[in-house]
Amino acid sequence: MASTENVNGSSGLGTPSPQPQGPGRGAVKWGPQHAGARELASLYSPGKRCQEWICVLLCFSLIAFNFIHLLTNFHLGHSWFILLGIVGGILTADFTSGLLHWGADTWGSVDLPIVGKAFIRPFREHHIDPTAITRHDFIETNGDNCMLTIVPLAHMAFSFLTLPPAEIYRIYPWFCYLFALVIFVTLTNQIHKWSHTYFGLPRWVVFLQDLHIILPRKHHRIHHVSPHETYFCITTGWLNYPLEKLGFWKNLEDMIQGVTGEKPRADDLRWANKVK
Ligand SMILES: [Zn+2]
Ligand SMILES: [Zn+2]
Repeated sequence: MASTENVNGSSGLGTPSPQPQGPGRGAVKWGPQHAGARELASLYSPGKRCQEWICVLLCFSLIAFNFIHLLTNFHLGHSWFILLGIVGGILTADFTSGLLHWGADTWGSVDLPIVGKAFIRPFREHHIDPTAITRHDFIETNGDNCMLTIVPLAHMAFSFLTLPPAEIYRIYPWFCYLFALVIFVTLTNQIHKWSHTYFGLPRWVVFLQDLHIILPRKHHRIHHVSPHETYFCITTGWLNYPLEKLGFWKNLEDMIQGVTGEKPRADDLRWANKVK
């Protein structure tokens, strides 16, 4: 990918207050020097890095394998179903990105055993240092999403190897749906990283953002307005407006708070307010 120079994802809508400079000017409120951001960044361990490498290698090998089999089994008669499958897969991926992002932003804590440091930490870091993601390399950016898609990709590969051709022909549109879903889930955090990158993006990426085929930069800024309670979908963002109009996330939070008594975003707020 092209080298990048970046500005804070919170600019424009939700512009953070200017950083206090020098001694005696108060605590840093956001960015890499924020006390919470520094602590969260230091929790990225070699073990976590190793998990990410394994997931990326496995995931992209399986994507290549399945893509070749999709091409060799292609029939023109399926065209409309393929198109329908791809749009359905992208919509499901967008919703999944919203649900996972909402879950990690709103509930749980970095202190939870295993999942806290490995999977909730990046979400906390992202709110107080939105530019950190633009400094993550390909492995750190995509490792966790690759982990999510290994099982469905492996199942698809197994089906291609074991099913008779007539059965593959019958379920081909389903494979297209699944493949589009898996590709967009896998690339979600890469798309999210691009939505925070303001300089040096390849032209084709900006073109896809402008067409709103992937998450546009201006659109994602809405999520970065504190307290980060809406526009959680980060693949294409197509579902953000309808879900907001339905009050989907708010209703879900009220329901969970009613049952468990847990306050939404309590841990996120705790990290945002960390001063040392
Ligand atoms: Zn968030
Ligand atoms: Zn973001």
